[in-house]
Amino acid sequence: MNASLTDVFEAPHRATIEAFRRFVTEELEPLWYECGERTAEHVPQDIKRHVRRRSSELGFYGGEFAAHLGGRDLPLTAVAALRHAAGSSGCPLALFTLPGPEGPTPLLAHGTEEQQQRYLAPLVRAEKTRSLGLTEPGAGSDTFRLATRARRVGGDWVLNGHKIYLSNLDVVDILLVFASTTERGGPDGSAVFIVETDNSGLVVKQSFRAMYGEPLYEVLLDDVRLPCDAVLGGPEQAHLAVGHGMLTLPRGRVLTSADCNGLAEYALRLGIEHARTRRAFGRAIGTFQHVQEHLVASSTELQASKLLTLACTHQFDQQGEMLPESAAKAKITATGTLSRTVDRALQTLGGRAYMQGHPLEFLYRYARMMPIVGGTTEIQKVIAAHALGLGSSPAPAPASGPGDAESTSQLLQEATG
Ligand SMILES: Cc1cc2nc3c(=O)[nH]c(=O)nc-3n(C[C@H](O)[C@H](O)[C@H](O)COP(=O)(O)OP(=O)(O)OC[C@H]3O[C@@H](n4cnc5c(N)ncnc54)[C@H](O)[C@@H]3O)c2cc1C
Repeated sequence: MNASLTDVFEAPHRATIEAFRRFVTEELEPLWYECGERTAEHVPQDIKRHVRRRSSELGFYGGEFAAHLGGRDLPLTAVAALRHAAGSSGCPLALFTLPGPEGPTPLLAHGTEEQQQRYLAPLVRAEKTRSLGLTEPGAGSDTFRLATRARRVGGDWVLNGHKIYLSNLDVVDILLVFASTTERGGPDGSAVFIVETDNSGLVVKQSFRAMYGEPLYEVLLDDVRLPCDAVLGGPEQAHLAVGHGMLTLPRGRVLTSADCNGLAEYALRLGIEHARTRRAFGRAIGTFQHVQEHLVASSTELQASKLLTLACTHQFDQQGEMLPESAAKAKITATGTLSRTVDRALQTLGGRAYMQGHPLEFLYRYARMMPIVGGTTEIQKVIAAHALGLGSSPAPAPASGPGDAESTSQLLQEATG
């Protein structure tokens, strides 16, 4: 009998998963020790770049993209299993082995052939990085209230607007900007623009430090002038790019779920190891039922979450699509499981895990972003409720297209890659 229920899904990808684990243990763990006394939130950019490039050479980073773009056409289940393995390894450098908000995005696969070769292929090969400019001070979950506007001026586009919470902006080569191209906005009246970050119209207004340590940026787009072919999909197809991109977004949501499940497995392992060895009142603390409750509850939730995530990816691999509400439920489940598992593990370790620099202290802060990015938990619930025939779209944008609630939250997936 299989040791684990998830083997049903993972077995066909065992060799890829094992090769990835060897990469982490044989190359990344020694590199991490060479880095000296660092915490996960202070990994230098050159080390992150090296990890991405090496992972790309080995076919992991960007492995899900097509071979002509430098990928390996990996099935989604294999990608989810790799993301899980990265999180569960506990090696901080493993967090950079697979594309994050700086990496290749399926959104760019809706670009013209030339855009794909010029922008997507170097992202897949980890030679370039990108950020995404979707969120605005007045448009978060309610994305299609975009105030950023793109206008045709002569043969060019000129963008004006205001974006906030952009990841990695200080180190990336391109920024994908969502802007409305018409007064009414909405999915059909918006487009995605590829902006090189040395464009003089891009002005950093301020930066924030996210709870997990990385900076996020607020930028003004002040007459950002772009050639007409800087619009994703090209001038003729520009109005379709946002809609096409949205169709791919449940896929991103389940990959976030896989990240969460992997990190939860690591946190659980720390809790179990400690419960077996730490003694109090003459016994290992793991013999106390209150401590067992923390670990058994986490283990149960994690198994359910992992199965749900992999069932979604398996369905996608078999049928080429997955139900948006399934992906939403996977994200609700995985992000909640991660938060609760880290919290319980921290409680199991007591004071030592509350100290700055402890892996669980970092994870506690890192995990907190997951129910916000990629479409908040509440927005995932809106999608799930909608599928049950309950509830209506949240405050639709004026005269926008169908399915605002779902469209909005799907787009948000892109905000974090
Ligand atoms: C670490 C991090 C990195 C990020 N990186 C990027 C990036 O690279 N690029 C980018 O563009 N953005 C980025 N973001 C922004 C992120 O996508 C937004 O924070 C997110 O979409 C939520 O928007 P908001 O913060 O404006 O919250 P709001 O939309 O204002 O929501 C506030 C609260 O109201 C709830 N709410 C809103 N609408 C509904 C509804 N209809 N029903 C029920 N509840 C609702 C929300 O769930 C939330 O709890 C990042 C954010 C973080 C935290």
